[in-house]
Amino acid sequence: MNTPVIGVLALQGDVREHLIALAAADAVARPVRRPEELAEVDGLVIPGGESTTISKLAVLFGVMEPLRARVRDGMPVYGTCAGMIMLADKILDPRSGQETIGGIDMIVRRNAFGRQNESFEAAVDVDGVPGDPVEGVFIRAPWVESVGAEAEVLAEYGGHIVAVRQGNALATSFHPELTGDHRVHSLFVDMVRANRTPESL
Ligand code: GLN
Repeated sequence: MNTPVIGVLALQGDVREHLIALAAADAVARPVRRPEELAEVDGLVIPGGESTTISKLAVLFGVMEPLRARVRDGMPVYGTCAGMIMLADKILDPRSGQETIGGIDMIVRRNAFGRQNESFEAAVDVDGVPGDPVEGVFIRAPWVESVGAEAEVLAEYGGHIVAVRQGNALATSFHPELTGDHRVHSLFVDMVRANRTPESL
């Protein structure tokens, strides 16, 4: 059966919500912390949380370089909020020592939509997600200042880019894992399925 195994990077952040959303979108979902666990998944979600903390823990757990290598090799990856920051080739305002995995030619601005108490929800139309707009939950969310030629803008909100895809890498400023609407996760699961070689089915 073509059920992909998708990891959720489980160093910090809303890991559990992504595991639930992926399972609801017909994937086998499991937490990933170590390089050996990363080697066993067909795709990976990087959750929302705090990108500086995720960055530091990824280096500490020895998983930063393996993450970069797999993303470079084309493993499908989806980052929400802090996860979007982790997938950016460049952060406009990094904290000291903050690194990213990279993979999407974009520049992100952390906390661009304001502080925790300025978090909000808004309807967002995402290219590739059929039907009604998704409910975008923005929590100290980044936005994308600019994208390179290879990156495709999938959604904007308030004149700012909030969803981007480049090849097998997908990123959203907002948190579909918190809404019970699994359409964005389904889009990602489809990307993972499409990427699997026939031998692995
Ligand atoms: N502002 C956070 C960061 O810089 C992201 C917030 C979130 O993931 N909800 O990592």
